[in-house]
This record gives sequence, C-alpha cells and structure tokens, in this order.
Amino acid sequence: MPNPLYDALFAPLEGRTSDLLILPDGSRLSGDAFLRLVARQAHALRAAGVEPGDRIAVQVGKSPEALAVYGASVALGAVFLPLNTAYTAGEIDYFLGNATPRIFLCDGTKAEALAPVAAAHGARLMVLNADGSGEMSDLAEGQPEAITAADRAPEDLAALLYTSGTTGRSKGAMLSHANLLSNAAVLADLWRFTEADVLLHALPIFHTHGLFVACNTLLLTGGAMIFLPGFDLGAVLRLLPQATTMMGVPTFYTRLLDDPRFARELTQGMRLFISGSAPLLAETHLAFEERTGHRILERYGMTETNMNTSNPYDGERRAGTVGFPLPGVELRIMAEGAEVAPGEVGVIEVRGPNVFGGYWQMPEKTAEELRPDGWFITGDLGMRDAEGYVQIVGRQKDLVISGGFNVYPKEVELLLDEAPGVLESAVVGLPHPDFGEAVFAVLVPRPGVTLDAEAVLASIADRLARYKQPKAAVVLAELPRNTMGKVQKAQLRADHAGWFS
Ligand code: ATP
Ligand code: MG
Repeated sequence: MPNPLYDALFAPLEGRTSDLLILPDGSRLSGDAFLRLVARQAHALRAAGVEPGDRIAVQVGKSPEALAVYGASVALGAVFLPLNTAYTAGEIDYFLGNATPRIFLCDGTKAEALAPVAAAHGARLMVLNADGSGEMSDLAEGQPEAITAADRAPEDLAALLYTSGTTGRSKGAMLSHANLLSNAAVLADLWRFTEADVLLHALPIFHTHGLFVACNTLLLTGGAMIFLPGFDLGAVLRLLPQATTMMGVPTFYTRLLDDPRFARELTQGMRLFISGSAPLLAETHLAFEERTGHRILERYGMTETNMNTSNPYDGERRAGTVGFPLPGVELRIMAEGAEVAPGEVGVIEVRGPNVFGGYWQMPEKTAEELRPDGWFITGDLGMRDAEGYVQIVGRQKDLVISGGFNVYPKEVELLLDEAPGVLESAVVGLPHPDFGEAVFAVLVPRPGVTLDAEAVLASIADRLARYKQPKAAVVLAELPRNTMGKVQKAQLRADHAGWFS
C-alpha cells in the first residue's frame, strides 16, 4: 500500500549500512539503525493511540530520536507538527489549542509546566529529552523493528508547520505528502545531491529549512548528515572538513567570517554552501567568496510553499538575488492586479505542486492569501531583473507609506549599510502626526565604532529622495532576530512606536 513520503524517504533506508547521521561526539547511526528506531517509535506511538490524520506535536531538542519521530509520524499516516524550542507555555497553549494534537512531546525540564497545557487541549504529554531519554524512548524500547506504513494518498497531510510569526500570529500551513516530496525531488536534482554527500546540518529541525529542505533532500538522495544540536562555531569549524555541503541562515555565514580560524583550507572538500530564510547581504556573499573561493547559493522559500526559487548550480550565482523559479514552480510579480515589468516592484505570487493546501482552521486567512486558481500571495515584495533573477525587496507589511509615498526599507538599508562605521541597519515606518508614517532607521555599529546617528543620516541625504530619508535614527548594539536570523521589525516598530508622537 502506498505512502508517498515514507516510500521515498524512509523505506529506502532498510538494510543501509552506511551512515545516515554523524553526531558531534563521533558516534554514528546507519540508515538501517535509524529506520529501526523509526519503526520502534511508530509502534509505541500507535500503542499510545495515534491514528492516521492525528497530529503529533513536538517541542524537543534536536537529536536522532527527534528526527525519528518525524519518520514515525509519516509511517503512521499522522501529521507531524514540530514547534520552536523557544516557545513559552503561553505560546504552546495557542499551538495545542489550534492544532489539537493527539500527542505532545516535550523536554523533561518543561514537562511540569506544560502538563496542564497539554491536558487542557486533550493531548497526551510524553517526554523526549535532547539526549534521547524519556518516556517516548522507554515506550519504544523492545517494540518491533519493522513497520508497514499506513496507506496515504499524495494529497493527504504529512505535516502541519507553523509560520515563524514574523508578521503576525503564526499560522499552521497544511503540507501534503505531494507538497513535500515534489520540492525535495526538485532541490535534490537542482543542487546535485547524491549518496556521496555529507551535509553539515546545524539548523533547527522545527523549521522548514532544517527539516524539509535539509533532511528531506538528504533522505531522498541517500547522503549523510553531520547532525549538530545547534550552530556551535567550534563544532562547525572542526567538522566542516568532513562535509561536502552546508545549508545555513545568513548569520551562520557572518559568524564564520567573523572568526579568524575560518580559513579556506577548511572548505576545500566542500562543493556547495546554501543560504536562505533571511536575506544574505551581497557584502557577505562577496566576503565569503574572497575568503573561501565558494559562491554561496541563495534560495528563497517559506513555510507555506517550501522552496520557490534558487540561484543556479552551474550558472552565475548572483549576490543580492534569490535566482530563478524552481522547475515546476510558477512565479509572478503583481501590482494592482497585473504583472509588473522587469525592474518594477510588486508582490510575489507562486503556484506549483509545492504550494500548501491552506491554513489549518483559518479559512479566512486561507482565502486572503491563496487564490482559488492556486496562486499563493506570499506577502513578499520583489522584482525581476532583465535576465529573470528574482530579488526580494522586503515584506509588504514592512513597506513604509510616508506622506502617501511608498518607501521600500531595503533601498534605504542598503545605503545605510554602506555608510562608514555601519555594520547593518533596519528601516521601519513609525506613526507620524503629519506624514502618517515616517521612515525611522536603526543602526548597528561595526565593532569598536561609536556611531553618530545624525551624521550617518546626513551622509546618505544627497543619495535619496527627501521622502525616503529617515527622519530619525537610533544606534543599537544588535538587531532583534529570531532563531532563523529574521530581523523582528514588528518588535522594532513596537519599541519605538512613540518616537514621533
Ligand atoms: P509569518 O508568515 O508568520 O509572518 P515568516 O514569513 O517569517 O512568518 P517563514 O515561513 O519561516 O515565516 O519565513 C518565510 C519568509 O522568510 C519569506 O516569506 C521571506 O520573507 C523570508 N525569506 C526566506 N528566504 C529568504 C531570502 N533568501 N531572502 C529574503 N527573505 C527570505
Ligand atoms: Mg510568512
């Protein structure tokens, strides 16, 4: 009986003696050993009452056991629902209330605080600690080491993945077997993954990047993963020479570049560095090439769609762009109901087998963002250059409208970033009595530099139309970012909301 995702990603692990997971302490797990772990867990979860279509929510540290729960969930025909380990009990209350999972797995240190939350929403709480111990593993022990996967159709749900909550409340994106599998197949092919690959995996596995882009692609193609619990610079530097590829968020790359130990020799065995989840500064792209000889391949995606665009493997990887639509993915840039011309900014829409089926329990949100003919309105502003490279200009919700004029924060940020002493910047719109919104800049100085905000603003004044110029700026030690490296502009707006009033 078919189970599209299980058949493609997990079943092929049977009998595989080569490593699937390489852990920082040097221990290894073969493909076959991992599959047996998946089977034991699946039997345990089934015994705990999980049926096809049930949600299995997990808020646990990254470990082989945590990844195996994904496999077990797929095997049972259940819906995998990973949650950011940073979420507090109050946030978990929202997710469990929205998703009503059958099971909620959490770390032992949080079990006491989360037990009433799980109980309130009818979920059975089980502990899975970051070291693999806990009730989940106790129940799995001694269970059969093989399982017949539940029958699933391509359009059946495999995962409920919540968006990062950057622009508002997190929404649960319903992702089907076909959504996940089609994207993994395209990425594996485009990025030339084979069983010879070893991916340095330092991303969290509660997000689309680390879970689907990384793990699905590697599982599909038979490679191995160096599975780090998080981005530990020392471990990454030590283990890079054993890897052939790495996927990272931009902060991985800036942190590597900031470390003098990060030398070209460490990257000699690498064939590919990939970046995504947040914009990679062109400057980082160029500095990385200078240091290592490698051109980072930047791609663009989101929870609702997995990946949509990628720079080419063979052709020019253009800094500051996210490349071209993936094979099978349609992309258009819209303003006022029509596609814009090259070089003009509009809202990016995408359509394809990768696009989700809608937001869980949110029909109005789904209707707002997913058109009946399949186009998904991403909420990102972008443009295409003459050769078709897509550039992300920012989010529609971050657009500043000052005195009736549109200001794209990215345009201002790029200029501010060039000013002497500025490491990076963020531009937001704040309420203003005359202009409706006024442009406001947050500046982060380079190490050891004392920035004069007024002087920085003066230095870019002759390069920007007056309405685009920030009316004020502050200097902060760093920008507020979430675990995926996304700048939290909503927080900046809230922190400085009263500035002009
Ligand atoms: P929410 O939808 O809840 O506000 P979110 O959009 O941050 O949160 P994710 O799905 O994790 O949640 O992130 C997808 C977004 O990340 C994209 O819509 C885009 O804005 C941004 N993004 C991803 N890759 C890139 C990239 N290479 N360059 C610029 N932005 C990117
Ligand atoms: Mg989003």
